[in-house]
Amino acid sequence: MPSPRWLRVSNPCALPSLALPPSEADLKGLPALEKRIARRVGETNAAYQLIEDGDRLLVAVSGGKDSWALLDVLERLRKRAPVTFTVEAVTVDPGFPQFNPDPIAETCERLGVPHHIIPAPIDKMVRTKPEELPCIICSRLRRGVLYSFAKRNGYSKIALGHHLDDLIETLLINLFFEGRLSTMPLRLESDDGANTVIRPLGTCEEKDLQRYAWLRGFPIVPCGCPLCGCSSLESRRKQVKEMIASMETSIPRLKASMLGAMGNVKLSHLLDLSQGALHAKGVDEAVERLG
Ligand code: SF4
Repeated sequence: MPSPRWLRVSNPCALPSLALPPSEADLKGLPALEKRIARRVGETNAAYQLIEDGDRLLVAVSGGKDSWALLDVLERLRKRAPVTFTVEAVTVDPGFPQFNPDPIAETCERLGVPHHIIPAPIDKMVRTKPEELPCIICSRLRRGVLYSFAKRNGYSKIALGHHLDDLIETLLINLFFEGRLSTMPLRLESDDGANTVIRPLGTCEEKDLQRYAWLRGFPIVPCGCPLCGCSSLESRRKQVKEMIASMETSIPRLKASMLGAMGNVKLSHLLDLSQGALHAKGVDEAVERLG
């Protein structure tokens, strides 16, 4: 049975931060980087109508670089956007003993953004389930607590920090390992229509966001999970990430082309029977034969 749409998410664990604090020369590049990210977010927002007048946004902040970049970019956008919307942050506390949400709460306070912490029993689950399953259950639990918190408290949208590299990697993981052509959408209504998830950074590159969070001095907070870096889900992502990096050396516009492809789908030129591609009869048998 296929998994629900909201379950098809990436591993939420963050990459390690850049180790040393930025120099003055590094900081000189911040305005240009900020402008580039803001322009991409603005264009994506306009094209997909991610943020609308009157929205109450709940931004998921794990303490990883992407979530900091997202919160900062949205808070800056809020101050200059022609539409009125609010931004609040939420952190799911996974319950790992090493997880310390204090730097997240302190930074949100410094930014003037209201912050909420909601507990989820991920620690207990990770310790009691087999190796592959925890990451899937973890994603489901995180999403479940976020959905119910947003619904209960009247937020109109949940903003997640997934970026272009996440979208591309998910596309390839689904293609190579799951036999499915799909990725994370930029805007998605939950199956019951009660929640809307948006991904305003979906066209921004991971390396830009990592640098942005570093230049801004955000504290990178590890989630404390013992599986970080060693689960099967992560190893698939790592494999795909390495493959993309190696291909980029000979195809410099690889990511741009893949982004273009995700927005330029020719359903009639694929083999999905539910889309009326009758010529695809027998494709299931062919897949079976290939193993
Ligand atoms: S590695 Fe741990 S925190 Fe990360 S997705 Fe898996 S179970 Fe969750």
